[in-house]
Amino acid sequence: RQGSVVVTGASSGLGLATAKALAETGKWHVIMACRDFLKAERAAKSAGIPKENYTIMHLDLASLDSVRQFVDNFRRSGRPLDVLVCNAAVYLPTAKEPTFTAEGFELSVGTNHLGHFLLSRLLLDDLQKSDYPSRRLIIVGSITGNTNTLAGNVPPKANLGDLRGLSGGLNGLNSSAMIDGGDFDGAKAYKDSKVCNMLCMQEFHRRYHEDTGITFASLYPGCIATTGLFREHIPLFRLLFPPFQKYITKGYVSEEEAGKRLAQVVADPSLTKSGVYWSWNKDSASFENQLSQEASDAEKARKVWEVSEKLVGMA
Ligand code: NDP
Repeated sequence: RQGSVVVTGASSGLGLATAKALAETGKWHVIMACRDFLKAERAAKSAGIPKENYTIMHLDLASLDSVRQFVDNFRRSGRPLDVLVCNAAVYLPTAKEPTFTAEGFELSVGTNHLGHFLLSRLLLDDLQKSDYPSRRLIIVGSITGNTNTLAGNVPPKANLGDLRGLSGGLNGLNSSAMIDGGDFDGAKAYKDSKVCNMLCMQEFHRRYHEDTGITFASLYPGCIATTGLFREHIPLFRLLFPPFQKYITKGYVSEEEAGKRLAQVVADPSLTKSGVYWSWNKDSASFENQLSQEASDAEKARKVWEVSEKLVGMA
């Protein structure tokens, strides 16, 4: 049978390119989990994704009610879940003040980490029920949250500290809106959220891989300098960033190529290893990359997991 894969944030950028790469093979039915139904429908049409190979379902990761609703709707659709891809993200590098999710969590960590955390915890049951030979849970990471790289050392650096802001609810009222309890910084909040993504992938692996056989993996697909992720940045940055990545850092990758990379992590029979953070070299060959010290700290992963469980109402 066709594989059945849920991709969050498939209405643009990497998610859309991945949906296209998978749907075009005819081997996958892609459930595009998006907050803006019309935008997703237009994007799928203009990308030329074969219409019998995708379904759009509403999901707003900035609302935990919406996450639960999505899970109910998905289950009612009767489709199996073979692979879940947590791809959606917001990046607010120029924000002066924090904004918040429906439950009052700072928006970047609330969407990128907490929304996905609840989604993947709930859908783990569905992955376990699938009879597909290679079931996977993929969480898109980033080099920017990884301080053992050049790009990860551009200030402000990711740092979760002792999690005092997260433990306090990340709401900017009786706690800081930042995980480490510091002053709000939108670029740092994004990087922190990506460290949480990578830590949770490893914690999933430690807790569930052996018993379930599910593959848990993360990846850094390369710098896709043209996506909507940079839409909140100043115009001069948006003009100069793609050529800078193309010619200076040489980390640039097209949306199409990045989509193929993520599609490999979803479907390639040789990428079944669990607990791995995939990257690609300049010849576009995949390899198992090292994570920074913080992003591979098992004790911190456990704490992020436990605090997040409380925040999303699972503990
Ligand atoms: P885009 O902004 O193009 O795509 C982000 C997607 O997330 C969009 O579909 C967006 O929906 C969706 N989204 C945002 N907020 C929500 C929400 N509350 N609920 C549901 N969906 C939401 O960025 P990219 O394609 O670049 O980013 C995709 C992933 O790749 C992210 O995880 C990012 O961290 C990662 N990444 C990107 C890199 C890059 O260089 N661009 C490098 C490394 C990692 P909508 O269309 O409605 O806005």
